[in-house]
Amino acid sequence: MSRSAHPAGPRHADVLPEGHYSGPAADLNELDPKVWAQTVTRDDDANGVVTVGGIDVKTLAERHGTPAYVLDEDDFRQRARAWRTAFGHDADVFYAGKAFLSRAVVRWLHEEGLNLDVCSGGELATALSAGMPADRIAFHGNNKSVGEITRAIEAGVGRIVLDSFQEIVRVAHIAQSLGKRQRVQIRITVGVEAHTHEFIATAHEDQKFGIPLAGGQAAEAVRRALQLDGLELIGIHSHIGSQIFDMSGFEVAAHRVVGLLKDIRDEHGVELPEIDLGGGLGIAYTSDDDPREPHDIAKALTEIVTRECDAARLRTPRISVEPGRAIVGPTAFTLYEVGTIKPLDGLRTYVSVDGGMSDNIRTALYDAEYSVALVSRRSDAEPMLARVVGKHCESGDIVVKDAFLPGDLAPGDLVAVPATGAYCRSMASNYNHVLRPPVVAVKDGESRVIVRRETEEDLLRLDVG
Ligand SMILES: *Cc1c(COP(=O)(O)O)cnc(C)c1O
Repeated sequence: MSRSAHPAGPRHADVLPEGHYSGPAADLNELDPKVWAQTVTRDDDANGVVTVGGIDVKTLAERHGTPAYVLDEDDFRQRARAWRTAFGHDADVFYAGKAFLSRAVVRWLHEEGLNLDVCSGGELATALSAGMPADRIAFHGNNKSVGEITRAIEAGVGRIVLDSFQEIVRVAHIAQSLGKRQRVQIRITVGVEAHTHEFIATAHEDQKFGIPLAGGQAAEAVRRALQLDGLELIGIHSHIGSQIFDMSGFEVAAHRVVGLLKDIRDEHGVELPEIDLGGGLGIAYTSDDDPREPHDIAKALTEIVTRECDAARLRTPRISVEPGRAIVGPTAFTLYEVGTIKPLDGLRTYVSVDGGMSDNIRTALYDAEYSVALVSRRSDAEPMLARVVGKHCESGDIVVKDAFLPGDLAPGDLVAVPATGAYCRSMASNYNHVLRPPVVAVKDGESRVIVRRETEEDLLRLDVG
């Protein structure tokens, strides 16, 4: 299959280039449903304050303080269910816990019929302590410790995804010494890397995850795994990237994974029963992003795999997928209070909020784009070009690089950054000894803290010197 490579060019410039930015939305009071959690609305009877789950953000700020991650429970459950329903009973949906994991979330996933990916002892402990059945947990990671592997096997996890030759032997050995046979998949790299609108098909892979298909390494890994008594090899795993909108990367990946299944059948007379296509499906961070519905994704992936298997005369394996961001990302926003405001003539206005890179590292780390809105009131003031920054001692401490906010914005106003459910709380830090914000779940007019705010006592408890 020939595919052209589209090397990703730089998508961002420090100054807004001519023609890049469409300018402020017609009405800054409008909340684009694409980027906001489902129950978010602006209440025009109450001075235009924004509500979520039936509670207004001023009440949330008074009750729980700022900054806070506010998570719409109905939206989370609805998205989880949509993925589950879209893939039906012949497939499994594993929520990628690294996007955001807490015990409440584990219970919701369990109730909605999803499985769970973990990639550390800490994530495994969280999942088990919230009652996720071990056989619905998959254990990932490129450098699982002996301790982690032992706990996972003892707990009876449904699968361990093997990521290296050492690990094949290690897991087999530990399973055998525990008198068990562990179900495993082998993670391979298929030479496809996908990000947002482009994917790149390369001949070899230069990354830490997986075992390369190239050069016969993946086939050799399969050979070894099939020989070891401690392992039951159930399938092949591939995860190609993140924030992907274009399905063609999955198409190439599925083609190559099925090619390996065919080689395994030809060499060993074994048809592996499962194939995992990973996660990485994109969400809307700004109005420019157009994610696909789970139903479309399920249909496309199922068709691709079925077609490839028919062509290779293989029984179609059971498919699994691992969405993280696509489930939790859109369900939460970060609520901040505006502090200082600094207009720089001819440039932009720096709006400082009471959090920053400690609660959202994605802008600094990946040059991620976000949007922002004034949520404590409506405003019909002229738009001003703003940059939303945090309170950290670091000039790269930017939350939203370029956004329009009302020109009458003032200290004490509440602003919110939508689509922060994934990879924000889970990547949060204590930089500058800032206290990590709580996660507040809202539903039917009630708010409930599911991860509490850190306190100075929490910080000092760890400091035992
Ligand atoms: C990170 C990861 C995922 C989830 O990625 P999203 O972009 O959150 O969907 C799924 N599978 C594996 C193996 C991962 O590493």
